[in-house]
Order: sequence, then C-alpha cells, then structure tokens
Amino acid sequence: MYSDAHPRDFPACSGCSLCRLVCPMWRARRDPRFSPEGIAKARQSGAALAELAPALEACTLCGACDPVCPENIDLSGMIMDLRRELPPHPELVALQIGYQQAAEGTEPAPAGALLLPGAALRADPALLDKVQSLLGLRRAPDDGADLAVALEIGGEIAPQRLRRFLDGLEGRSLVVGDGLLLRQLRSWLPAGRLQGLGEALGNLSTIRRRIASADFYVVEARAFHADHERLVAHYDTLRKDCGCAMNLDLQRIAMPPHASGYPGLRMGPAREDLEQSRWLLQGRTPARILVENPAERALLRRVIDVPVLHLAELA
Ligand code: SF4
Ligand code: SF4
Repeated sequence: MYSDAHPRDFPACSGCSLCRLVCPMWRARRDPRFSPEGIAKARQSGAALAELAPALEACTLCGACDPVCPENIDLSGMIMDLRRELPPHPELVALQIGYQQAAEGTEPAPAGALLLPGAALRADPALLDKVQSLLGLRRAPDDGADLAVALEIGGEIAPQRLRRFLDGLEGRSLVVGDGLLLRQLRSWLPAGRLQGLGEALGNLSTIRRRIASADFYVVEARAFHADHERLVAHYDTLRKDCGCAMNLDLQRIAMPPHASGYPGLRMGPAREDLEQSRWLLQGRTPARILVENPAERALLRRVIDVPVLHLAELA
C-alpha cells in the first residue's frame, strides 16, 4: 500500500490469503507458491532465492495485492527487491542498455509540463503525436525507458544515470506513460505533480464525453495501484459519468489483462496472458474496449472481435 509512509515487510504476513483473490499469477496457476502470500510465507520460513525464482519471475508487478493486504505489506515492492537478487536475463539487460544508449546525448528537458511517454507509446508514433496534441504537452527527450526496464527486471540503475534523468524534473508536472516508472517517480520526485497517462486523458472532456455505456474500460493496473486511494475517486466518477463497465472488482482493484511476468517487455503474449484476458471479458458483451496502456491494445485484440481502442483514439 504505497500511500502509507510505513509499509511493512514479509514477517507481518498473517496468512489471511486475501492477496490471492486479486493476484493474476495465482489465478493462472492455482499453486500457492505462485502468490504474494506464498512468497511472503516462503521468506518467513527461510526459503532460498532459487526456490522463489519461478514465482518472482512470473509476477506481473500489477500491484493488485498491495492495497488489499490488511497487514499493509508492500508485496510488489518486496518482489521487485527480490528480483534484484536474481541472475539477470542477458536479453533483458541488453534491452535496458539499448534504451539507455538511445537516451545518451539527448537534449535537456524543455520548460513546462512534460510527457514521458514510455516505450509502449513511443512504439506507435501516430498515437504518440495524438496524445501529445490532446494533452498539449512537450515530450521529454529522455523518458527514462531504460529505468522502467531496470525496475521491471531488477536491473542496476547507476547513480549518475539517475541524476541525469531527474535533472530538471524536480517540482514539474509530468504525465508518465509507464506505470512502474510512475510509481518509482513518486519517491524520486516527491514534489512533482505526477499523473499516469490514463488519468490525464480521462480528465479531458473531449475524451470523457466519447466514452459510452456499452464500452468496457481497462484501467492500467500498475499506475492505478501505485496511487490507489486517490485514484479510486477518479475512476468512480468516470464510471458514474460514462456508465461504462471497468476491470475494477468490488474492492476497487484493477484486474490486469496480463498474468505472466515481464508483460511490458514481451514480444508477444504468453498463454497465461491470453487466458487472463479471456477471463476478464467472460460474460461481457461490450461494443468496444478502451485501454489506457497501448501495450494492452494488441493483447485484447487477440481475444475479442470488437474494436479495441486506446483512449486517445476516441478524440
Ligand atoms: S494479504 Fe497480506 S497478510 Fe494476507 S496472506 Fe497476503 S501478504 Fe499475508
Ligand atoms: S504484483 Fe500482481 S501478479 Fe505480482 S504478486 Fe501482486 S497481485 Fe500477484
């Protein structure tokens, strides 16, 4: 629960199992080891890192377990910490280095509010242009895509690289496309005004008035859970205004369409992701799907035969 200044660690786990109910990794595997509770309990009993590795790598880092834990354990933070101790995947490290090299030598950030699009949005230049023009924001030349990968894979972040990225961003208004980077930026830039892409677009009347009651709206889980208490009100109002269904369950937890590890870095969806997406849409007959995260558009298009649009494509 990131909103709490003092989250607790795994020794506090009481074994109540509430976190299992919202965990896509657990839902896909039905194996207690593949759950936040399983990882916390294994740590209490001194399990070796190698025993935990399959579950640590299968976690989507969606953050759904964090707000539901009555003991206020930062479960996804625990998993991110443990990932840093695992042997690195060479191809994922290469991805991080590639993004880092692309950011080297970029111009300093221009003045004013900025968009940090992230890799998924940058991969679709037409959509990126649309988002920029809708939000009226300049794009940060260095959007920290390598840092987002490092957070996801447990990779190293060199202090000088972090300083260069944060230089000039302190106290600024930023719209951040990558949910994991957004979460981390809340502690790197405590004085900044930070919003996720979905929240920023959802606040525009030109977008909001085009969301229809027959739509199914997919909230981006990482950004939502990273600022859960505040964003619950945003999405409750959006749902009331538009009448659409959302991937929010009764506890206001966003069920992600992914159920396998490293979802933002995969070239294509895994079997678990397709099953999770089908489960998410089970019993629903939406006329259209709306996503906040461009990476989820392609996945959902694989499992349903209705238009799947990014929010920006509504305008
Ligand atoms: S919700 Fe928290 S206390 Fe309950 S089993 Fe999960 S980690 Fe343990
Ligand atoms: S972050 Fe998501 S996938 Fe990972 S343990 Fe928590 S609920 Fe499960």
